[in-house]
Amino acid sequence: MEKLLVSSCLLGQPVRYDGSAGGPFGLLQRWQAEGRIIPICPEVAGGLPTPRPPAEIPGGQGAAVLTGQLKVRTLDGDDVSPEFLRGAHIALQLVKQHGIRFALLKARSPSCGNLENYDGTFSGTKVAGEGVTAAALKQAGVQVFNEDELDKLARLMDGSNG
Ligand code: SF4
Repeated sequence: MEKLLVSSCLLGQPVRYDGSAGGPFGLLQRWQAEGRIIPICPEVAGGLPTPRPPAEIPGGQGAAVLTGQLKVRTLDGDDVSPEFLRGAHIALQLVKQHGIRFALLKARSPSCGNLENYDGTFSGTKVAGEGVTAAALKQAGVQVFNEDELDKLARLMDGSNG
């Protein structure tokens, strides 16, 4: 059965930086009941607490964090890259362990965003980019979707062996 890596906050778990959640969505609840969902919050898995200070990547490119060219920084300037990288590594381990090809990750997160990100100025300015975990998963060949792309993902999942 095709399994799916999902941001924990989209499953209703209150793990976002401000202690909130982003879901849950009915379809995800069904897949969860079918045992198809592998949840992860990369930031919590990487060792950060909840709640935690908001963090952004200057320029919004998670791939550059993976190569060490950019740091993920909190509003106060603290470098939280090690925790973000640890979370991405754990997500990769889960993908390998479960043979996962698809991920549904929260949009515009410095860990999970797949298409857009904030630009590092903490001003709400969005840029084309991706979070650290999303970038790592894409590099590993995982197709990454966000919650606004759930219909597209569902069609792919339904067309798979699940
Ligand atoms: Fe949700 Fe990802 Fe942020 Fe965790 S790191 S709260 S899963 S968006």
